Amino acid sequence: MSDINSPSGAGGKTAIVTGGGSGIGLAIAEKFVSNNIRTIVIGRSQEKLDQTKEKLGELCTVVSFDLNNLGGIPQLVNQLYEEHGNIDILVNNAGINMKKEFTEVTDEDFQRILLTNVTSIFSLSREVVKRMIEKGAGSIINISSMASQYGIPKVIAYTASKSAIEGMTRAMAVELSPKGIRVNCIAPGFIATEMSAKALNSDPERKGKALGRTPMGYLGQPADIGDAAVFLASDAAKYITGVVLPVDGGNSVGF
Ligand code: NDP
Repeated sequence: MSDINSPSGAGGKTAIVTGGGSGIGLAIAEKFVSNNIRTIVIGRSQEKLDQTKEKLGELCTVVSFDLNNLGGIPQLVNQLYEEHGNIDILVNNAGINMKKEFTEVTDEDFQRILLTNVTSIFSLSREVVKRMIEKGAGSIINISSMASQYGIPKVIAYTASKSAIEGMTRAMAVELSPKGIRVNCIAPGFIATEMSAKALNSDPERKGKALGRTPMGYLGQPADIGDAAVFLASDAAKYITGVVLPVDGGNSVGF
């Protein structure tokens, strides 16, 4: 059911945005709300969630939940369906990064990144998809990274996780398209958030490299990813599934 008052025609829908309390997730949630999409933001930090609720207002609900708690995900999804009736859009945005020399990365480090960036996305998507199948409709948007487009040093676990997300996007798209569910992925370039500041500001050479191969010559804004998510979630993208859309100022094709 679309709302003609929504610029994207996606209004009247309900979305989950994981990690919607900061950075890219917050910008996606903001764009959704301004398109009349009821938005459920999931995160861990209560402070961030409270600020998000205050900023986004009535169309936003915040839920404090650690997505590493895989065992709690089925109950979380049941509760969200009880409270909201339906979920039309799932944005798997929550993610963590870790910059370390390859040989310094422990098995525990590697597993920790994979748990948040891959396994929790699988578990949450599986539970939401069970309900989307009943309705015969839904749109899922995953967030990968330039780390899955080309090699970046010192982010082995992050790279493995983001490459897995792109593979999962394609596998889910082909299996779920006949059931009315579209699955797409956005690959952000270098976007100005706390996460990228941590990785780039302490390492001017890395920042220079990132910008040097970005033809547009500047970092993207979280809102740029928000706009792409609104498009992929809307009926304007109804024949689009299984794609990885770089939103990167040309970084992925930069020389
Ligand atoms: P932030 O660190 O600002 O946001 C990450 C969000 O994920 C936080 O709100 C955090 O909430 C949430 N989160 C992390 N772990 C969990 C968990 N276990 N359970 C629930 N929520 C969790 O980073 P960005 O906005 O920069 O990144 C968002 C996504 O975009 C990530 O997937 C990232 O890999 C990707 N990305 C970012 C790029 C960039 O340049 N910034 C480039 C490419 C990809 P809380 O603190 O409350 O736990």
